[in-house]
Amino acid sequence: MSEKNMETISKELLFQPEYPADSNNAILQEAIEFCEGYKEFLTNGKTEREISEISENMLIKAGYKLFDDTASYKAGDKVYFINRKKCVLAATIGSESMEKGFRLNIAHIDAPRLDLKPSPLYEKAHFSLLKTHYYGGIRKYQWTAVPLAIHGVFCKPNGETVKVSIGEDANDPVFCITDLLPHLGAEQNDRKLSDGIRGEELNVLIGSQSVADESVKEGVKLNTMILLNQKYGIVERDFNRAEIEIVPAGPARDIGFDRSMVGGYAQDDRVEAYPALVAEINCKNPTFTTVCVLTDKEETGSDGVTGMQSDYVFHFLQQLCRMQGADYIRACQASKCMSSDVTAAYDPTWDSAYEPLNSTYAGRGVAITKYTGARGKGGTSDACAELVAYVTGLCDEANVTWQMGEMGRIDLGGGGTIALDVANRGIDTIDVGVPVLSMHAPFEVTHKIDILMAYKAFVAFINAKA
Ligand code: MN
Ligand code: MN
Repeated sequence: MSEKNMETISKELLFQPEYPADSNNAILQEAIEFCEGYKEFLTNGKTEREISEISENMLIKAGYKLFDDTASYKAGDKVYFINRKKCVLAATIGSESMEKGFRLNIAHIDAPRLDLKPSPLYEKAHFSLLKTHYYGGIRKYQWTAVPLAIHGVFCKPNGETVKVSIGEDANDPVFCITDLLPHLGAEQNDRKLSDGIRGEELNVLIGSQSVADESVKEGVKLNTMILLNQKYGIVERDFNRAEIEIVPAGPARDIGFDRSMVGGYAQDDRVEAYPALVAEINCKNPTFTTVCVLTDKEETGSDGVTGMQSDYVFHFLQQLCRMQGADYIRACQASKCMSSDVTAAYDPTWDSAYEPLNSTYAGRGVAITKYTGARGKGGTSDACAELVAYVTGLCDEANVTWQMGEMGRIDLGGGGTIALDVANRGIDTIDVGVPVLSMHAPFEVTHKIDILMAYKAFVAFINAKA
């Protein structure tokens, strides 16, 4: 070592993070191209149901067949299953027995939003409005005074489902939640930021026109209901059996003069769902059976029939094993899972919330997170160092730029993913994903390089030979 100068020694021993696009324009161009499909996915799918439908169409187009648990499949076969129109499972049968383990890649397709309450419609001061109940962790003040769209379904007792999507087409009307003018903001200004807008103040403005008949008590509400009935054939009671989501209106966009970033709603967690799905679709003849899952209800704790705490994914794995006569317990023991979810990107304007050495940065590649959680790693699924070595080794081999970090400064907050729901079943699981600025806001920001690197990491993982 004494022969070498310190610069060489430093290069050998120390790690210097890099932004791959700075020195490699070709990789930026590749990322920009990859993200055209991603932006379309974001723009066309605003809810978990819409993303499920788009994903199902992509799978069918790619030759996937609806899973039949009485059939037998051979290596290379591609099957899919949709759970209650909100979760997507897609698999490619591996050449190895399933007892050698699955390669799971799980992202979620629900996103923070405002759901309509069961009885949402009311009239006040000659306006008609909708009461909402927020879903997931939102900062309520971010949802006022921005254009909103209405998406969802009304399910009728006769089995008919009426789909609603309004506010996305340039010719559609949009909706909004009003806020006070600064001139009259003195009292509201004294509220804490977390209390600046309250849950019961998230009321969506949807009309102002009354029926002409003055003897009608709530003419504006009635007029709105008449319009809804004409367009969708619904009556007020149908709101009770509906799932209607209020989301930011408008398409995903490029951000920056260099177009290096993507801005849009619900990138948490479609920024992993899209690359995970494309990686699964492009996977041909894997060694290990791949299972790509786009799940629901992550933002509310993964409970319920479409959440990862339910058995729906594990039932699917059991059915796959049974079909092959493979032992399910052995399969779990040998499986590996990527819990693909976003991380917090270091924000220069809010840098005190981060610890610079252990943050993830937009543009530095796919983020690998060994553990999540809060305080003393409470509620974490801590990936074994062996698994970290395995995954980072695959990335290095495939020239995937990766970075590692934590959620932010210790004791400031924290968060979790679906990793523990899988790891608790005895499956080795690690968090992998894209750093996001303004996470959970109506307009989130990601870096195209990180999206491409996530895709490449997923490809390397599901196509691994060992
Ligand atoms: Mn997420
Ligand atoms: Mn989230």
